[in-house]
Amino acid sequence: MTDKKCICQETQHHFLKRAFDRLKLKGTQRELLLSSFRETRVTVPVTLCHNGENTLHTFQGYRVQHNHARGPFKGGLRFHPDVNMGEIWALAQLMTWKTALVDIPFGGAKGGIAVDPGQLNDTEREELTRRFCQKMAPIIGVHEDIPAPDIGTNPQVMAWMLDEYSKTHGFRTAVVTGKPVELGGCAGRLEATGHGVAHLAHRAATDMALAPGQSRVVIQGFGNVGSHAAIGMADKGYKIIALSDVHGGVFSEKGIDISLALAHVRETGALSGLVDSAPVSNAELLELPCDILIPAALEATITCDNTDAIQAKLVVEAANMPVTHRADDQLQQRGVVIVPDLLANVGGVLASYYEWVQNLQQFPWERELVLSRLEKRLSYTYDTVRDLAQEQQVDMRRAAYELAIRRVERAIRLRGF
Ligand code: NAD
Repeated sequence: MTDKKCICQETQHHFLKRAFDRLKLKGTQRELLLSSFRETRVTVPVTLCHNGENTLHTFQGYRVQHNHARGPFKGGLRFHPDVNMGEIWALAQLMTWKTALVDIPFGGAKGGIAVDPGQLNDTEREELTRRFCQKMAPIIGVHEDIPAPDIGTNPQVMAWMLDEYSKTHGFRTAVVTGKPVELGGCAGRLEATGHGVAHLAHRAATDMALAPGQSRVVIQGFGNVGSHAAIGMADKGYKIIALSDVHGGVFSEKGIDISLALAHVRETGALSGLVDSAPVSNAELLELPCDILIPAALEATITCDNTDAIQAKLVVEAANMPVTHRADDQLQQRGVVIVPDLLANVGGVLASYYEWVQNLQQFPWERELVLSRLEKRLSYTYDTVRDLAQEQQVDMRRAAYELAIRRVERAIRLRGF
């Protein structure tokens, strides 16, 4: 996985350097925008039970706090075996640009533990989360740094974080977002990222005159983001012809019934074996003839090795950094439209912001209000990025980075650095 780690950092550096050049930023400005405020690495000991025997294991945990010029650090917490400092650095950077692009008063951070959560039982996962939280407690906080779920974590993990933090700080609902609704979570937060992906995919498809009834959609990743993106696209009338998870994919030219797919995953734990579908590998899935491709799993799934085979006209980056910078160049040259990650999946952090606001005010909103505000703000952000892209004759990624970097750079200047 060393390659993937390097690709993430390299990709983030490339997009930033390109934007810094266009904005004619000087050396020290570049340095301030590139460097992290703080990078924390901790060792987390947990007793694991295997074959009735208890053994002490250690796991590496990370939190990169990139920039807080515009507000407290904000970013997800990931449990995945490939987590490393380089990957977390790149993802923390991306959070700074996302929160600036959608113009919410947060900075950017990201954290994670190098662990396969599927190998732990609930008690072990809880122990791991609580011990990680104990070590991170001095640097997180309601107005300092607010974690949220990401790959391999969920509302239950956030509930354990909240409980552990509250033991020493008093009940602090707003210290994490993406919590269960019963603990101050935001109605609609669970589906917000995928819902936003579908909303923006539809906006971009409409601009390209891709009609829902005639457009075929392929989605890689059927977790939180992928499954809710699939629900959203199906609700809008698009035909989902292929879906996948870590075990492989399923394909149906006639279209997949998303409620059947969800029920099948609930029953069996995977998509494979879904009725009325043919198996397809994750690699084959990306190359299927389709109109809209939504990578919603891991980073660097579209690289120079497979760009030539990508047939979609529109790629909507539901995952963070699913397209490497070289693949991005090649796809742009071929005229493929890309809705970049910092725009496409920003619905997650936007709903997290709504959750934080509700927690501070102790005044919960209804799901309909959350989703209508989300759609309105996403549409406004999409229009701003698309209009700037058209005005400057650049792609949406360049326009989005430019808008976001300008806002962060200005905040740094105004604060007197
Ligand atoms: P998740 O853990 O809920 O789901 C991940 C999905 O990807 C699962 O279906 C898993 O089986 C699949 N997967 C894992 N490895 C794979 C592989 N090698 N090939 C194909 N599929 C694979 O995670 P999620 O929260 O849905 O996050 C997905 C992506 O969206 C990540 O890039 C994450 O950083 C990004 N994201 C998530 C949120 C959020 O609110 N959860 C917000 C913004 C961005």
